[in-house]
Amino acid sequence: MILRKQFLEHVGQTSPSPMMIEVERAEGSFFYTPDDKRYFDLVAGVSVSNVGHANPDVIAAMQRQAADYMHVMVYGEMVERPQVEYARSIAELLPGELNCVYFVNSGAEAVEVALKLVKRHTGRTELISMRRAYHGSTHGAMSMMGTPEGEEWKSEFRPLLPDVKSINFNSFEDLKQITERTAGVLCEVVQGEAGVRLPNPEWLKALRERCTEVGALLIFDEIQTGMGRTGEMFACSKYGIEPDVICLAKAFGGGMPLGGVAAKRKVLDSFTHSPCLGHITTFGGHPVCCAAGLAALNYLKNNNIVESVESKGALFESLIKDHDKILEIRRSGLLLAVELGKSEYLYRLMEIFKEEGIMSDWFLYCDTAFRISPPLTISEAEIEECCTIIRRSLDRL
Ligand code: PLP
Repeated sequence: MILRKQFLEHVGQTSPSPMMIEVERAEGSFFYTPDDKRYFDLVAGVSVSNVGHANPDVIAAMQRQAADYMHVMVYGEMVERPQVEYARSIAELLPGELNCVYFVNSGAEAVEVALKLVKRHTGRTELISMRRAYHGSTHGAMSMMGTPEGEEWKSEFRPLLPDVKSINFNSFEDLKQITERTAGVLCEVVQGEAGVRLPNPEWLKALRERCTEVGALLIFDEIQTGMGRTGEMFACSKYGIEPDVICLAKAFGGGMPLGGVAAKRKVLDSFTHSPCLGHITTFGGHPVCCAAGLAALNYLKNNNIVESVESKGALFESLIKDHDKILEIRRSGLLLAVELGKSEYLYRLMEIFKEEGIMSDWFLYCDTAFRISPPLTISEAEIEECCTIIRRSLDRL
């Protein structure tokens, strides 16, 4: 009780009604309160805990690295084994010629870096994003929230970045707005906070072609979709499209704060001259975070977790889709938006879920659907149990 009171007094808040669930410990697909109430974690820290809570490999790697060394010098000056090994391992998995990673601290910072990079590399200024996109909360990333939906979040913080425009996701017609003036186009492969909106594969191909035609760089924001969430290590591989730049964060740090911008060496080299120090960051690529990220990646690979994602997502879908309160399920791998059609239903369901021991959430631009994005390590038995609770909760609506 005292902790909850002090939380409200001393910890900065972002909403007038925080969830207020006190966490004591977390393990695998669950977290627990001090009175040992168990919650199925269907949010996973918003697609962060892909390898499960308290993953022993990640903990061991962090302990080893923390004992060897933590922070030594600002990013990019010293040769640090965890950074090098993680960058090399990621480069092996990246599509095509993307072979180099610039490490940062978070998703929003990765987006900032990508925006600066495309401007610096092309010498152009125009930046294009998609309507209903979410890319982070810093000034630059917030500027790329698609309008008009993003306006509610942006308007009180203007002026934001100039020369930014948004086009419609999946609109072939709107691709004409990408021109020789455009430095870069920023796009989620699957729109997460729009409520899991899947791309038309033909449109993604046309987007790639248009960017190449006019010399604009294509940036994929894989911050939510990366590291196996959609059933491939990176969602762009699902569609066979190679962007010029990929932004990574969330699960990229294996539960620790880490972001990355992947591109070809010669593109990332733009930051090294005229001026040099094009983006600098003290803690970016922190060795303990890179050790955690690398251990998480190896865990995914060694246990064939990514290969199991599609069938687990399909199992979730099949076990609940016939419930009469569900209008539609939009899904990519283990990222699901379960559409109820009414926000009143959703707000009530969140209360019921809390009682029943399920942690879910709605989406920034879609408060009529609830989120299922559990740790990718969730077992089939756990999915079955979880879906029984979801159905029981929906019955109570
Ligand atoms: N991009 C996408 C697609 C996201 O979903 C998010 C966070 O939800 C971000 C960027 C921002 O990441 P961060 O919260 O680490 O700044």
